[in-house]
Amino acid sequence: MSPTSLAEIDATLQRLGARPEHRSRLLRHWLQAIPLDRGRNPLAHYLPKALHEALPSLMAEWQGVAALHAREPSEDGSERLLLRLHDGQSVEAVLLPRGGLCISSQVGCAVGCGFCMTGTLGLIRQVGSAELLAQVATARTLRAVNKVVFMGMGEPAHNLDAVLAAIDTLGTEGGIGHKNLVFSTVGDERVFERLGRGAVKPALALSLHTTQPALREQLLPRAPRLSPEWLMTQACDYARRTGYPLQVQWTLLEGVNDGDDEVEGLVRLFQGQPAMLNLIPFNTVPGLPFQRPSWDACRDLARRLHARGILTKLRDSAGQDVEGGCGQLRARLQPVRVV
Ligand code: SF4
Repeated sequence: MSPTSLAEIDATLQRLGARPEHRSRLLRHWLQAIPLDRGRNPLAHYLPKALHEALPSLMAEWQGVAALHAREPSEDGSERLLLRLHDGQSVEAVLLPRGGLCISSQVGCAVGCGFCMTGTLGLIRQVGSAELLAQVATARTLRAVNKVVFMGMGEPAHNLDAVLAAIDTLGTEGGIGHKNLVFSTVGDERVFERLGRGAVKPALALSLHTTQPALREQLLPRAPRLSPEWLMTQACDYARRTGYPLQVQWTLLEGVNDGDDEVEGLVRLFQGQPAMLNLIPFNTVPGLPFQRPSWDACRDLARRLHARGILTKLRDSAGQDVEGGCGQLRARLQPVRVV
Protein backbone atom coordinates (compact mmCIF):
# COMPACT_ATOMS: atom_id res chain seq x y z
CA MET A 1 0.00 0.00 0.00
CA SER A 2 1.23 3.52 -0.77
CA PRO A 3 2.62 5.47 2.19
CA THR A 4 0.39 8.27 3.47
CA SER A 5 2.86 9.87 5.86
CA LEU A 6 6.50 10.88 5.92
CA ALA A 7 6.92 8.63 8.97
CA GLU A 8 5.99 5.61 6.81
CA ILE A 9 8.44 6.72 4.11
CA ASP A 10 11.17 7.10 6.74
CA ALA A 11 10.47 3.67 8.23
CA THR A 12 10.83 2.04 4.79
CA LEU A 13 14.04 3.94 4.04
CA GLN A 14 15.53 2.97 7.39
CA ARG A 15 14.67 -0.67 6.81
CA LEU A 16 16.51 -0.48 3.49
CA GLY A 17 19.60 1.02 5.12
CA ALA A 18 19.24 4.61 3.90
CA ARG A 19 21.41 7.25 5.58
CA PRO A 20 20.12 10.83 6.09
CA GLU A 21 21.82 12.02 2.90
CA HIS A 22 20.12 9.24 0.91
CA ARG A 23 16.73 10.23 2.33
CA SER A 24 17.38 13.82 1.44
CA ARG A 25 18.44 13.03 -2.09
CA LEU A 26 15.56 10.62 -2.75
CA LEU A 27 13.00 13.11 -1.48
CA ARG A 28 14.52 15.77 -3.73
CA HIS A 29 14.27 13.47 -6.75
CA TRP A 30 10.65 12.71 -5.96
CA LEU A 31 9.47 16.19 -5.00
CA GLN A 32 11.35 18.04 -7.70
CA ALA A 33 10.63 15.47 -10.43
CA ILE A 34 14.37 14.98 -11.07
CA PRO A 35 15.19 11.81 -13.06
CA LEU A 36 17.21 9.40 -10.94
CA ASP A 37 20.00 9.03 -13.50
CA ARG A 38 20.58 12.75 -13.98
CA GLY A 39 24.03 14.26 -13.38
CA ARG A 40 27.56 12.88 -13.34
CA ASN A 41 27.07 11.16 -10.01
CA PRO A 42 23.86 9.18 -10.41
CA LEU A 43 22.22 8.48 -7.09
CA ALA A 44 21.83 4.77 -7.78
CA HIS A 45 25.65 4.25 -7.72
CA TYR A 46 26.19 4.90 -4.06
CA LEU A 47 23.04 3.58 -2.39
CA PRO A 48 23.11 0.51 -0.13
CA LYS A 49 22.37 -2.62 -2.18
CA ALA A 50 18.93 -3.27 -0.70
CA LEU A 51 17.86 0.31 -1.32
CA HIS A 52 19.33 0.29 -4.82
CA GLU A 53 17.36 -2.83 -5.69
CA ALA A 54 14.15 -1.47 -4.19
CA LEU A 55 14.48 1.91 -5.90
CA PRO A 56 12.25 1.35 -8.96
CA SER A 57 9.34 -0.03 -6.92
CA LEU A 58 9.87 2.63 -4.23
CA MET A 59 9.70 5.45 -6.74
CA ALA A 60 6.67 3.93 -8.48
CA GLU A 61 4.97 3.67 -5.08
CA TRP A 62 5.69 7.30 -4.18
CA GLN A 63 4.55 8.50 -7.60
CA GLY A 64 1.24 6.73 -7.05
CA VAL A 65 0.49 8.35 -3.68
CA ALA A 66 -1.62 11.08 -5.31
CA ALA A 67 -2.25 9.78 -8.81
CA LEU A 68 -3.53 12.11 -11.48
CA HIS A 69 -7.11 11.14 -12.27
CA ALA A 70 -8.57 14.10 -14.13
CA ARG A 71 -7.60 17.55 -15.42
CA GLU A 72 -9.71 20.61 -16.12
CA PRO A 73 -7.76 23.45 -17.74
CA SER A 74 -9.16 26.96 -17.71
CA GLU A 75 -8.65 29.85 -20.09
CA ASP A 76 -6.54 31.90 -17.68
CA GLY A 77 -3.76 29.29 -17.67
CA SER A 78 -4.81 27.63 -14.44
CA GLU A 79 -5.77 23.99 -14.29
CA ARG A 80 -7.74 22.01 -11.74
CA LEU A 81 -6.39 18.53 -11.03
CA LEU A 82 -8.25 15.69 -9.40
CA LEU A 83 -5.83 13.39 -7.58
CA ARG A 84 -6.74 9.91 -6.44
CA LEU A 85 -5.47 8.66 -3.06
CA HIS A 86 -4.77 5.03 -2.09
CA ASP A 87 -8.21 4.38 -0.59
CA GLY A 88 -10.16 5.74 -3.55
CA GLN A 89 -10.72 9.16 -1.97
CA SER A 90 -9.74 12.14 -4.07
CA VAL A 91 -8.53 15.69 -3.53
CA GLU A 92 -8.23 18.72 -5.77
CA ALA A 93 -5.09 20.67 -6.52
CA VAL A 94 -5.02 23.74 -8.76
CA LEU A 95 -2.10 24.76 -10.96
CA LEU A 96 -2.13 28.54 -10.87
CA PRO A 97 -0.61 30.96 -13.36
CA ARG A 98 3.06 31.91 -12.70
CA GLY A 99 4.10 28.62 -11.12
CA GLY A 100 1.72 28.50 -8.15
CA LEU A 101 0.01 25.37 -6.90
CA CYS A 102 -2.89 25.17 -4.46
CA ILE A 103 -3.14 21.89 -2.58
CA SER A 104 -5.72 20.23 -0.30
CA SER A 105 -5.04 19.44 3.35
CA GLN A 106 -8.16 17.37 4.05
CA VAL A 107 -10.77 15.33 2.19
CA GLY A 108 -13.81 17.46 2.97
CA CYS A 109 -13.73 20.04 5.75
CA ALA A 110 -15.35 20.46 9.15
CA VAL A 111 -15.56 24.28 9.11
CA GLY A 112 -18.66 24.24 6.92
CA CYS A 113 -18.38 27.69 5.31
CA GLY A 114 -21.74 28.44 3.77
CA PHE A 115 -20.21 29.59 0.47
CA CYS A 116 -17.97 26.56 -0.11
CA MET A 117 -18.71 23.30 -1.87
CA THR A 118 -16.14 21.43 0.25
CA GLY A 119 -17.88 22.72 3.38
CA THR A 120 -21.01 20.79 2.41
CA LEU A 121 -19.13 17.48 2.64
CA GLY A 122 -18.09 17.67 6.29
CA LEU A 123 -14.74 16.14 7.17
CA ILE A 124 -14.19 12.78 5.45
CA ARG A 125 -10.55 12.24 6.40
CA GLN A 126 -7.20 13.88 6.96
CA VAL A 127 -4.63 14.05 4.17
CA GLY A 128 -1.32 12.55 5.33
CA SER A 129 2.00 14.39 5.06
CA ALA A 130 3.16 12.13 2.20
CA GLU A 131 -0.15 12.76 0.42
CA LEU A 132 0.39 16.51 0.78
CA LEU A 133 3.88 16.21 -0.71
CA ALA A 134 2.63 13.90 -3.45
CA GLN A 135 0.26 16.60 -4.70
CA VAL A 136 3.31 18.77 -5.38
CA ALA A 137 5.33 15.89 -6.88
CA THR A 138 2.48 14.99 -9.25
CA ALA A 139 1.89 18.61 -10.26
CA ARG A 140 5.59 18.99 -11.04
CA THR A 141 5.40 16.18 -13.57
CA LEU A 142 3.06 18.53 -15.50
CA ARG A 143 4.54 21.96 -14.92
CA ALA A 144 7.18 23.82 -12.87
CA VAL A 145 5.94 24.78 -9.39
CA ASN A 146 7.66 27.52 -7.38
CA LYS A 147 4.91 28.40 -4.91
CA VAL A 148 2.59 26.18 -2.84
CA VAL A 149 -0.51 27.52 -1.12
CA PHE A 150 -2.51 25.42 1.35
CA MET A 151 -5.85 26.81 0.24
CA GLY A 152 -7.58 23.85 -1.37
CA MET A 153 -10.01 21.48 0.30
CA GLY A 154 -9.81 21.47 4.09
CA GLU A 155 -8.63 23.67 6.95
CA PRO A 156 -4.86 23.24 7.45
CA ALA A 157 -5.17 24.08 11.18
CA HIS A 158 -7.26 20.93 11.60
CA ASN A 159 -4.44 18.78 10.20
CA LEU A 160 -1.59 20.74 11.70
CA ASP A 161 1.07 18.06 12.30
CA ALA A 162 0.90 16.77 8.74
CA VAL A 163 0.76 20.24 7.18
CA LEU A 164 3.74 21.51 9.21
CA ALA A 165 5.76 18.39 8.33
CA ALA A 166 4.98 18.94 4.64
CA ILE A 167 5.89 22.64 4.86
CA ASP A 168 9.21 21.77 6.47
CA THR A 169 10.00 19.24 3.72
CA LEU A 170 8.86 21.51 0.87
CA GLY A 171 11.01 24.33 2.22
CA THR A 172 14.09 22.06 2.30
CA GLU A 173 14.05 19.06 -0.06
CA GLY A 174 11.16 20.47 -2.11
CA GLY A 175 13.13 23.55 -3.18
CA ILE A 176 10.29 26.03 -2.47
CA GLY A 177 11.26 29.40 -0.97
CA HIS A 178 9.81 29.86 2.52
CA LYS A 179 7.83 32.97 1.61
CA ASN A 180 6.37 31.01 -1.32
CA LEU A 181 4.78 28.53 1.05
CA VAL A 182 1.43 29.95 2.17
CA PHE A 183 -0.44 28.55 5.17
CA SER A 184 -4.07 29.58 4.86
CA THR A 185 -6.42 29.38 7.82
CA VAL A 186 -9.75 30.59 9.16
CA GLY A 187 -7.79 31.30 12.37
CA ASP A 188 -6.98 28.95 15.22
CA GLU A 189 -4.98 29.47 18.43
CA ARG A 190 -2.84 26.39 17.69
CA VAL A 191 -1.66 27.92 14.42
CA PHE A 192 -0.40 31.09 16.07
CA GLU A 193 1.36 29.02 18.75
CA ARG A 194 3.14 26.65 16.40
CA LEU A 195 3.63 28.28 13.02
CA GLY A 196 6.73 30.26 13.92
CA ARG A 197 8.48 27.42 15.75
CA GLY A 198 9.72 25.41 12.77
CA ALA A 199 12.87 26.08 10.75
CA VAL A 200 10.73 26.79 7.68
CA LYS A 201 8.42 29.73 8.31
CA PRO A 202 5.66 30.05 5.69
CA ALA A 203 3.72 33.15 4.77
CA LEU A 204 0.26 33.37 6.34
CA ALA A 205 -3.16 33.92 4.80
CA LEU A 206 -6.17 34.59 7.03
CA SER A 207 -9.65 33.84 5.70
CA LEU A 208 -11.56 36.66 7.37
CA HIS A 209 -14.58 37.27 5.06
CA THR A 210 -16.21 39.76 7.43
CA THR A 211 -15.25 42.12 10.24
CA GLN A 212 -18.47 41.36 12.13
CA PRO A 213 -18.27 38.53 14.71
CA ALA A 214 -21.94 37.53 14.47
CA LEU A 215 -21.88 37.36 10.68
CA ARG A 216 -18.62 35.41 10.79
CA GLU A 217 -20.27 32.82 13.03
CA GLN A 218 -22.99 32.43 10.42
CA LEU A 219 -20.70 32.27 7.41
CA LEU A 220 -18.06 30.02 9.04
CA PRO A 221 -20.26 28.08 11.48
CA ARG A 222 -17.64 25.73 12.90
CA ALA A 223 -14.58 28.00 12.86
CA PRO A 224 -13.17 28.74 16.35
CA ARG A 225 -15.07 31.61 17.98
CA LEU A 226 -12.28 34.17 17.79
CA SER A 227 -12.96 37.83 17.10
CA PRO A 228 -11.74 39.44 13.87
CA GLU A 229 -9.70 41.92 16.00
CA TRP A 230 -7.93 39.13 17.88
CA LEU A 231 -7.28 37.18 14.68
CA MET A 232 -5.79 40.21 12.91
CA THR A 233 -3.57 41.05 15.88
CA GLN A 234 -2.21 37.50 16.15
CA ALA A 235 -1.77 37.06 12.41
CA CYS A 236 -0.04 40.43 11.99
CA ASP A 237 2.33 39.66 14.89
CA TYR A 238 3.37 36.56 12.98
CA ALA A 239 3.70 38.56 9.76
CA ARG A 240 6.02 41.04 11.51
CA ARG A 241 8.19 38.20 12.81
CA THR A 242 8.59 36.64 9.36
CA GLY A 243 8.72 39.85 7.34
CA TYR A 244 6.05 38.54 4.91
CA PRO A 245 2.83 40.56 4.82
CA LEU A 246 -0.37 38.90 5.99
CA GLN A 247 -2.75 38.05 3.14
CA VAL A 248 -6.35 38.56 4.19
CA GLN A 249 -8.81 36.49 2.13
CA TRP A 250 -12.29 37.85 1.55
CA THR A 251 -14.88 35.99 -0.53
CA LEU A 252 -17.21 38.73 -1.76
CA LEU A 253 -20.88 37.84 -1.38
CA GLU A 254 -23.42 40.24 -2.82
CA GLY A 255 -25.37 42.10 -0.17
CA VAL A 256 -23.66 40.14 2.63
CA ASN A 257 -20.11 41.41 3.18
CA ASP A 258 -19.69 44.15 0.56
CA GLY A 259 -21.23 47.13 2.35
CA ASP A 260 -20.00 50.36 3.93
CA ASP A 261 -19.98 48.77 7.38
CA GLU A 262 -17.35 46.29 6.20
CA VAL A 263 -15.27 49.06 4.59
CA GLU A 264 -15.17 50.89 7.93
CA GLY A 265 -14.40 47.64 9.78
CA LEU A 266 -11.53 46.85 7.42
CA VAL A 267 -10.07 50.33 7.71
CA ARG A 268 -10.06 49.90 11.49
CA LEU A 269 -8.51 46.41 11.40
CA PHE A 270 -5.83 47.24 8.81
CA GLN A 271 -4.64 50.43 10.51
CA GLY A 272 -0.83 50.21 10.74
CA GLN A 273 -0.77 46.47 10.05
CA PRO A 274 1.53 44.61 7.59
CA ALA A 275 -1.39 43.18 5.64
CA MET A 276 -2.94 43.15 2.19
CA LEU A 277 -6.48 42.27 1.18
CA ASN A 278 -7.47 39.75 -1.51
CA LEU A 279 -11.05 40.31 -2.67
CA ILE A 280 -12.36 37.17 -4.33
CA PRO A 281 -15.80 37.55 -5.93
CA PHE A 282 -17.87 34.48 -5.04
CA ASN A 283 -17.90 31.86 -7.78
CA THR A 284 -21.56 30.97 -8.09
CA VAL A 285 -22.12 27.38 -6.97
CA PRO A 286 -25.49 25.77 -7.72
CA GLY A 287 -27.32 25.02 -4.48
CA LEU A 288 -25.47 27.58 -2.34
CA PRO A 289 -27.52 30.61 -1.24
CA PHE A 290 -25.14 33.41 -2.31
CA GLN A 291 -24.69 35.61 -5.34
CA ARG A 292 -21.60 36.98 -7.00
CA PRO A 293 -21.55 40.80 -7.00
CA SER A 294 -21.25 42.51 -10.38
CA TRP A 295 -17.71 43.16 -11.57
CA ASP A 296 -18.31 46.92 -11.49
CA ALA A 297 -19.41 46.73 -7.86
CA CYS A 298 -16.31 44.68 -6.96
CA ARG A 299 -14.02 47.16 -8.73
CA ASP A 300 -15.69 50.08 -7.01
CA LEU A 301 -15.25 48.45 -3.61
CA ALA A 302 -11.57 47.72 -4.33
CA ARG A 303 -11.02 51.38 -5.33
CA ARG A 304 -12.68 52.65 -2.16
CA LEU A 305 -10.56 50.39 0.02
CA HIS A 306 -7.41 51.48 -1.83
CA ALA A 307 -8.37 55.10 -1.32
CA ARG A 308 -8.66 54.40 2.42
CA GLY A 309 -5.09 53.06 2.52
CA ILE A 310 -5.69 49.30 2.24
CA LEU A 311 -3.53 47.46 -0.28
CA THR A 312 -6.28 45.58 -2.13
CA LYS A 313 -6.12 43.03 -4.92
CA LEU A 314 -9.25 42.04 -6.79
CA ARG A 315 -8.98 38.48 -8.06
CA ASP A 316 -11.04 37.63 -11.09
CA SER A 317 -9.52 34.42 -12.24
CA ALA A 318 -11.24 31.07 -12.00
CA GLY A 319 -7.88 29.60 -11.11
CA GLN A 320 -7.22 31.99 -8.26
CA ASP A 321 -10.76 31.75 -7.03
CA VAL A 322 -9.74 28.68 -5.16
CA GLU A 323 -11.33 29.27 -1.85
CA GLY A 324 -15.04 28.67 -2.12
CA GLY A 325 -14.46 27.15 -5.54
CA CYS A 326 -12.55 24.24 -4.11
CA GLY A 327 -14.32 20.91 -4.17
CA GLN A 328 -16.23 21.71 -7.33
CA LEU A 329 -14.26 19.41 -9.58
CA ARG A 330 -14.48 16.62 -7.05
CA ALA A 331 -18.21 17.16 -6.77
CA ARG A 332 -18.76 17.37 -10.51
CA LEU A 333 -16.37 14.76 -11.78
CA GLN A 334 -18.03 15.39 -15.15
CA PRO A 335 -17.24 16.80 -17.56
CA VAL A 336 -13.60 15.99 -17.02
CA ARG A 337 -10.81 14.63 -19.13
CA VAL A 338 -9.81 11.34 -17.56
CA VAL A 339 -6.09 10.76 -17.87
FE1 SF4 B 1 -13.25 24.53 4.73
FE2 SF4 B 1 -11.98 26.47 3.36
FE3 SF4 B 1 -14.29 25.48 2.45
FE4 SF4 B 1 -14.31 26.97 4.64
S1 SF4 B 1 -13.71 27.67 2.57
S2 SF4 B 1 -15.41 25.00 4.36
S3 SF4 B 1 -12.36 26.39 5.60
S4 SF4 B 1 -12.37 24.34 2.65
